[in-house]
Amino acid sequence: MPTFEYAPAPESSSIVDIKSSYGIFINGEFTDGRGDGTRKTVNPATEEVLAEVTEAGAEDVDRAVAAAREAYERVWGPMRGADRAKYLYRLARIIQERARELAVLESLDNGKPIRESRDVDIPLVAAHFFYYAGWADKLEYAGLGTTPRPIGVAGQVIPWNFPLLMLAWKIAPALACGNTVVLKPAETTPLTALAFAEICQQAELPPGVVNIVTGAGETGRLLVEHAGVDKVAFTGSTDVGRAIAKAVAGTGKRLTLELGGKAANIVFDDAPVDQAVEGIVNGIFFNQGHVCCAGSRLLVQESVAELVLDRLKRRMALLRVGDPLDKNTDVGAINSAAQLERIRELTASGEEEGAARWTAPCELPDRGFWFAPTLFTGVSQAHRIAREEIFGPVLSVLTFRTPAEAVEKANNTPYGLSAGVWTDKGSRILAIADRLRAGVVWANTFNKFDPASPFGGYKESGYGREGGRHGLEAYLAH
Ligand code: NAD
Repeated sequence: MPTFEYAPAPESSSIVDIKSSYGIFINGEFTDGRGDGTRKTVNPATEEVLAEVTEAGAEDVDRAVAAAREAYERVWGPMRGADRAKYLYRLARIIQERARELAVLESLDNGKPIRESRDVDIPLVAAHFFYYAGWADKLEYAGLGTTPRPIGVAGQVIPWNFPLLMLAWKIAPALACGNTVVLKPAETTPLTALAFAEICQQAELPPGVVNIVTGAGETGRLLVEHAGVDKVAFTGSTDVGRAIAKAVAGTGKRLTLELGGKAANIVFDDAPVDQAVEGIVNGIFFNQGHVCCAGSRLLVQESVAELVLDRLKRRMALLRVGDPLDKNTDVGAINSAAQLERIRELTASGEEEGAARWTAPCELPDRGFWFAPTLFTGVSQAHRIAREEIFGPVLSVLTFRTPAEAVEKANNTPYGLSAGVWTDKGSRILAIADRLRAGVVWANTFNKFDPASPFGGYKESGYGREGGRHGLEAYLAH
C-alpha cells in the first residue's frame, strides 16, 4: 500500500516567552520562595531544561493560604455572583486570546502533541471558564439549596497529564461559587499554571483569589494538611489520594478525589469495525495514554477479535510518533523519565507473565523520553497489565463471548472511572451501560469531554464529580 510522506510542519515556539526562573504566585504577585530551593522543569521530548521553578516550603504555603483567606473574607466571598462572573468571562477570553501560546507552552512542558494541546486541551480550558462563569450568578437555581454559600479556601493539587485543563477543572467551579484557591501544579508541568497566574494579573483578578505554589509531593502535603484550608480537591494517583483522605479525615475539611482508572473499552461483534478501531486508538493513544480514563483494556468479542486486531495493528502502524510541536504528530513524548521507567517495568511484567507483545513499527528520537504504541494479546485478568494502571501508550487486549462475560470482566477492577461500549444496537448500549460500574460510559465514542458533563469515579477511582452542575456541589456549603 503506498503511504504518504509528510513534510515536517513544526509549530514555532517563538510565541512563548519562558523565563529562566519563576517564583510563586501569592496575593497577585510573583514572589521568591522561602522554602527548599528550586527544581528544573524539562522538555520531555528533548531533555532540555526549560526553567527553574520554586519549590515552595511551609512558610510559602502559609503565606498563600493567608492571602487566599483574606481575599475570601474581604473581596471574593462577599462579591455578587454577577460580578464574579465578569472576572471568569474575562479569564476565559484571555485564555482564548492567548490560546496558541498556551498550547505551545503545554506541549513543550508536557510532551503532548500540539494537535491535542491546540485542539483539545486549551479550547476545553476556555470552555470550562465560560461554562462556570455562566453559573456564578445562578447558583440558587442549581438545585443545591436556595441559599448556596461558598466553603472558603480551597487547596487544590493536580497531576501532569492535562496541566492547564486540570487547573481549569479545579479553579473555575471554585471561583464561580465564591471560594478562593491555592493550587499546586505537578512538579514536572508547572509552566502553564504560572502562565495562568499572569493571566489572573492581566484580568485584574483581585489579589489573593488565585494563588499558585509550585513544588513536589511535600508541597502538596503541606497544602492539603494546612489548617487554614477548608476544602481539598485532588487529582492524581490512588496511593496519594488514599494518603490525603487519611490526613484530612476528622478535620472537617471537605474532600473530593479524582484518582486512577483501568477502563474497559468493549467492542461487540455488531460494531462498525473501522469506527471502533478509531475509538480504540483514541481511547488509549490520545495523550500517550497518560489519561486517567484511557481505554486501557480492550474487551473484544471473540468472533471479531481477529478482524479487529488486524485492522487495529494496521492503524497503529500509521501513528506518527515524535516531535510534539510537529502538527503531524499523533503520539508525543512520555512526560518524564520516571513515568517511562514505570511503563517499561509494567510492560516487561506483561511478557514475563505470558502475554504477547506487539509494537507499532516506528522510529523513536534519540533524545527525550519515548515509548512506541504497544498492544498485548493473550492477556488474562490476573496479569498486572490487566489490573494496574500503566498510564502510557499500552493496550491490553482481552476477549469475551457473551454480554454477561463482557460486563463481568469490565467490572473486575478496583477502579471505576470510565468505560466504552461499541455496538450497533441502542438497546444494548443502554443495557450494558447500566451494568458498568464506571462514572462515565461512552457509547460508540471515547474520551469525549464537555464542561457541562460531570466526570468522576467509583471505588478506587475516587469520589465527587467535576464538571457540569454536579461540579458545583463540591464547592458549596450545604
Ligand atoms: P501523583 O499522585 O503522584 O501526583 C499528583 C499530584 O499530587 C502532583 O501534583 C504531586 O506533586 C502531588 N502529590 C504527591 N504526593 C503528595 C502528597 N503526599 N500530598 C499531596 N500532594 C501530593 O500522580 P501523577 O503521577 O502526577 O498523576 C497520574 C495519576 O493521576 C494517575 O493515577 C491518573 O489516573 C490520575 N489522574 C486522575 C484523573 C481523574 O480525573 N480521575 C485525571 C488525571 C490524572
